[in-house]
Amino acid sequence: MNAGVYIHVPFCRSKCDYCSFLSVPVEPIVDGSSGGLFGRYVERLMAEIGSRAHETSDKAIDTIYFGGGTPSLLEPALVDRVIEAVRSAFRPAPAGLEITMECNPEDFHPDWINGIRGAGVNRVVLGVQSLDGNLRSVMGRRGRIPDTVMLEAFFAAGDIVHCVDLIVGIPGQTREGLALELGRILAYRPEHLSAYILSVDRGTPLARRLVPTPEMELEQRRRFEELIAAMEGAGYAHYEVSNFSLPGFESRHNMKYWTFAPYFGYGPGAHSFNGRERFFNPGTVQEYLDGPWKGPIPDERGANAPADEFLLTGLRLRRGITASAYLAATGSRMPASLAEEFERLAEMGLAVVERDGADMRYRFTLEGMFHMDGLVARLAARL
Ligand code: SF4
Repeated sequence: MNAGVYIHVPFCRSKCDYCSFLSVPVEPIVDGSSGGLFGRYVERLMAEIGSRAHETSDKAIDTIYFGGGTPSLLEPALVDRVIEAVRSAFRPAPAGLEITMECNPEDFHPDWINGIRGAGVNRVVLGVQSLDGNLRSVMGRRGRIPDTVMLEAFFAAGDIVHCVDLIVGIPGQTREGLALELGRILAYRPEHLSAYILSVDRGTPLARRLVPTPEMELEQRRRFEELIAAMEGAGYAHYEVSNFSLPGFESRHNMKYWTFAPYFGYGPGAHSFNGRERFFNPGTVQEYLDGPWKGPIPDERGANAPADEFLLTGLRLRRGITASAYLAATGSRMPASLAEEFERLAEMGLAVVERDGADMRYRFTLEGMFHMDGLVARLAARL
């Protein structure tokens, strides 16, 4: 199975109030050139990629994903250097590379797109989050609101797959408001759209001023259901809890996380999975930059963890899992107790159990998807 590569870029101009990702604010940016902070960071990334080549030189990869943080802070020449380092540490698969980069609207410029396209990037995820200034203030989203000029320039850029990230269920967002925002985005027919319900994470500035209530969570669910209906009505496949695509434009990279495929993460906080064991990169951005850097450490798991994780990740896909995929991922046949629990959930309208050729398929219904955490825990208890 081909592997994927994740490159973490842990810098942002400033921190958004709801953000719990590993990133540090760097505004005002004095020097974003190859000799400055980002250049130093790219040197460290290249050193890490090189030092782990023994793990990866026999692996074929078909995806690279630049996530963050804000990868669009990197100038194209630095992106090019990282891609070259990855290409020499792995074997690119004959099918070619899907190379994705997240971009914040304030960094977008046609010259930047041309530059990263020249480096090989062929998929760009625009972090729109919301087009409504009031809602952006409610959640404390920093940066530029994408205006019509910016959106038109982004969607006019050729030779890339256009992806959009949105946040829904922001307090104050109405059915009409969501329809208006979605209508503006869908007018451009992005090939891919990810939508995440606003989460109030502990320790964030947002958590100090907003305590979720059952009413808020009910409204969030309503907005998300409206979004699913609108996306499906517009011809998009809802292929994963938070992801929608036109046919053939699913994220090949993110599918690796949901199908137990191997991936290798570089940069502080990045995770890796070699097909058997998980690792992660400990330490802060400062430690990563100034060293000494110790390399990835094992992510300890309990006896049932591979099966737990297979359920947790695979059931995020709307198509769910199969008995044969369970066997391939965990090395054991699916226990009868687990299949029986799926049957019980199916009787309650929360799951679907169906034949798929010679195989059996298990997936959540839309209702089940909204209770996923509890249901996966219930299934895992039957392992
Ligand atoms: S731009 Fe993204 S990663 Fe950066 S602070 Fe905001 S939410 Fe976090």
